[in-house]
Amino acid sequence: MKSKTKKGNKAISNIQNNNSEIEELKKKYDSMPAETEIKKFMDMPLSQKTQKGLSESKYIVPTDIQRKSILPALLGKDVMGTAITGSGKTLAFLIPVIEHLYMNKWSRTDGVCAIVISPTRELAYQIFETLKRIGKYHDFSAGLIIGGKNLKFERRRMDQCNILICTPGRLLQHMDENPLFNASTLEVLVLDEADRCLDMGFEETLNSIVENFPTERQSLLFSATQTKSVKDILRLNLRDPIFIGSEKTKSEDIIPVLLQQNYVVIKLEDKITMLWSFLKNHLKQKIIVFFSSCKQVKYIFEIFCKLRPGTSLLALYGTLHQDRRIAIYNDFTRKSNVVLFATDIASRGLDFPTVNWVVQMDCPEDATQYIHRAGRTARNQARGESLLVLTPFEEPGMIKELQSRNIQIQKIHIDPQKLFSPRLKIEAALAQNTELKATAQRAFVSYIKSIFLMRNKDIFDVFKLNLESYAKSLGLAVTPRVRFLERLLKKTTSISTTLAEPNGFIQEDSDNEDFFKVKRIDHELVNDTNDVVVDLPKKSKVLSKAAVAKKAIRKKIQANEKINFDDDGNVIIDKRKQLQSELPTEYENNAGGINIEVARKILSEEDKFDKERFRELVKNRHKKQKDKLKKLVDENSQSDFEDSASDNDVDLSWLPDPDKVYNSNQKPDESKETSESDSEEDIEEPSHKKVKLTSKLTLNDAESIAAQLLANKM
Ligand code: ADP
Ligand code: MG
Repeated sequence: MKSKTKKGNKAISNIQNNNSEIEELKKKYDSMPAETEIKKFMDMPLSQKTQKGLSESKYIVPTDIQRKSILPALLGKDVMGTAITGSGKTLAFLIPVIEHLYMNKWSRTDGVCAIVISPTRELAYQIFETLKRIGKYHDFSAGLIIGGKNLKFERRRMDQCNILICTPGRLLQHMDENPLFNASTLEVLVLDEADRCLDMGFEETLNSIVENFPTERQSLLFSATQTKSVKDILRLNLRDPIFIGSEKTKSEDIIPVLLQQNYVVIKLEDKITMLWSFLKNHLKQKIIVFFSSCKQVKYIFEIFCKLRPGTSLLALYGTLHQDRRIAIYNDFTRKSNVVLFATDIASRGLDFPTVNWVVQMDCPEDATQYIHRAGRTARNQARGESLLVLTPFEEPGMIKELQSRNIQIQKIHIDPQKLFSPRLKIEAALAQNTELKATAQRAFVSYIKSIFLMRNKDIFDVFKLNLESYAKSLGLAVTPRVRFLERLLKKTTSISTTLAEPNGFIQEDSDNEDFFKVKRIDHELVNDTNDVVVDLPKKSKVLSKAAVAKKAIRKKIQANEKINFDDDGNVIIDKRKQLQSELPTEYENNAGGINIEVARKILSEEDKFDKERFRELVKNRHKKQKDKLKKLVDENSQSDFEDSASDNDVDLSWLPDPDKVYNSNQKPDESKETSESDSEEDIEEPSHKKVKLTSKLTLNDAESIAAQLLANKM
């Protein structure tokens, strides 16, 4: 009781302290210091709890974007902040969010006050981790709401969270399906990577989300490549927003000064050789390698793992299980000599420490994507290098695109002859592993598809690709067929118009699919796996498995039949493989194809015969064992117990009745064993179950043998 009163008193004094601090801070808000006066976070009117969280995380001096945006945000203004990658935008919105809750005395039971939306799960997770660090002295609750996690758990916890960090798809799912979730209490909305959240890929999702929010709220939008679209401002009901960040387009305003940017021009078919040589030359570095699709990442990761480059390899892409994604993210964060192969799920916002190189193996869609990928290195005043890999066809268009944004990039010349090609090793690995070969085929098709789907046809032209050489470079002897391309080629007359005016983009939410997966509704595309037709002669008609099976049935071809002969040349008939029931005759006469019903009946008929045969085998074996044991006991009783005539007849009635044991074979755990031994004509005990029999037995020995036999059979 005493301690409860103490606790109660402490709580009351805490509230009083908070109230007086809030009053003081409010006064400071009335005369906000000028941005130039802010040298340290301590100079900002922030709560003690936030100050403590910041200093413990070693955040002492605010970055430029933090100095400029935190003060107006504290005053409740809408902010659109633009600052280069790695310049500290996360704190620029998290600090005002935390302070808003504190200043408005928000408590756990008051519901959701702030929602932060991030385009990818990894970025949401990263923001959540930062929030936990700097907000650890506050009493609010925060939740991470991303796809791939336990929906039920999120559902129960969501109404107790004051701050939610979400991906758009998952947030909308809760809004639609979760009766406990109430967005009407929302006061602050944050969009990190705002231009990505607002682009066409998330358009419908975001519109639906915003509909559920109260219109009276504060909005904070941050990105390295900010949207300036009036339409977006209207969509979000921004109230006279403050634009922070330069309107100028000087390259140093969008690219970190310490980022050294390079590009190489190399034929598509030499790319893998180049990458392999690059990695072999940079073994002691931390590198991110970007590809345009999950399937390419998967293949290059798997094949390079097989080739053992001598450094750790990791792969991060959207189709992995969420727990794996987070584990890989943490692994890459922690390690220093490591290569991460990734799709564009890793291109936005992720803050991996000390990345030395970013390699863009596939040409980015545009300058914005280039900036975000390259921005994974040279973060927060650190140095970094980036390498863009272009094909000769992509070079002029892409360089023009980068120059239009004032991005200065240096060309590096490499001599393909001097590169070390892993081609033979790759081919050998594929020859041994059909699964890997199928992965290579999928990677091939997905690359073609990614090029086809690109908007800028001056840079990306699927018909300029040398498919045969590219397939060979992936280790594929036969070029996989790309059906959608063939269909397109057939419609040559309409191709030029279709490609010239791509419209109707649908980008899928990162919650459900690969971040970069792009669909265009004006192009008919079929599923990747259907596009791959493996190893068939080029001009022959493609046969499906079902068609091949039907053909075989029509010709009455018996597949994989092995015939054994004895020494005299007579065929040995294996009874086990002969069908015993009468039904098969009916089936054979019924030549119309595969009849599943009849086949099922035949199997159950045959099963009866099999069971009968098996019972016989077991009975025989038990009989043999009984006889053997009896013989042994008889021998012993003669030698060791000569004078004990009454013991001569050993009573074996206690041994289990084999019929009973095997009739009760219906038990599920034993059924497996039954079917396994079924195929063996001569059933043998597994070696570890065999009982060692000696010729000279004492009564004790005999008893222990009997006990072991009993134990094995029960
Ligand atoms: P952005 O979102 O602009 O790309 P982040 O918010 O991810 O950048 O921050 C980049 C890195 O800089 C992070 O590692 C973060 O911890 C660090 N950082 C941010 N603000 C500060 C600061 N004021 N002092 C020191 N380091 C900071
Ligand atoms: Mg960021």
